[in-house]
Amino acid sequence: MRGWNWHQSPLKPYSYEILLSVWEIASRICPTNRDVWIRRKVLKKSIPTTPYIAKGIVIHRIIASLFKEAKKNVYLGQLDSLRDRLISKGMSIVEDELGSMSKYVDLKGFSDEIREFGKEISKYVAVSIENKIMEVRSKYPFIDEEGLVNLVFPFAIELIIDGRFLGLSSYLRADASWVFGGLVYDIKTGYKLKWHKLQLAGYALAIESFYERPVDIGVVIYVNRGLQGLKIEKEIFPITDDLRSKFLELRDELQMMLIKDKEPPIASNCPKYCLFRKYCYGG
Ligand code: SF4
Repeated sequence: MRGWNWHQSPLKPYSYEILLSVWEIASRICPTNRDVWIRRKVLKKSIPTTPYIAKGIVIHRIIASLFKEAKKNVYLGQLDSLRDRLISKGMSIVEDELGSMSKYVDLKGFSDEIREFGKEISKYVAVSIENKIMEVRSKYPFIDEEGLVNLVFPFAIELIIDGRFLGLSSYLRADASWVFGGLVYDIKTGYKLKWHKLQLAGYALAIESFYERPVDIGVVIYVNRGLQGLKIEKEIFPITDDLRSKFLELRDELQMMLIKDKEPPIASNCPKYCLFRKYCYGG
């Protein structure tokens, strides 16, 4: 059940032409897979459809961009007032993202909340990075930029993976992966849901198929706002064969549906929160 066995069953996909994203496989909620059909055949693009999805995207962008910016600053030796510069960078990312997302989704009433959340996250990430840099420099006063980056950021941010061996997209991006292998991370906002683990199983398989390195542990980091500020929880779990099988079964099911090219029926037990009700029931 390792991704590098992509050329044999059960890893081998039905098709190398119909490439799926890990997210669409893991997060599909429709009992007949009509949600995937609508996204692919009707909307024909993946766009944020609710303010909650938009919020999650903004938070991802802030975290990934601030880590990348901090690394760049370490290499350039620009460590003075790094924390303040990162916070203001985080705020400008929020504004840019709100601007581009408002073209697709009505953010009225949510923009301020996303802004506030973005500010808290930016502060948290900036302070954490600054503290880590100070800790490493106090322990190794003569450390060079490369050593500092390795110790402060021992993970690849937005790791790019070509998932085609497994019938997955050629441009997958895992939120983060430990540079020495073995762990894959994902950042989520909102409630813990079962499919979050499946998504990491998908990334683990894809990393194994492309980089030929085992990934045994998944970590979902939940970032939310609690009554007393940010609430950050980690769910750490093994990427078991069960999770891997489940992910592959769903991949096969979706590929088969798309190969047959037959519109799936409306489900008899639609989840209340399905975003595609208006496409299935009108209104
Ligand atoms: S509304 Fe029902 S049938 Fe339509 S995509 Fe959602 S769950 Fe599926």
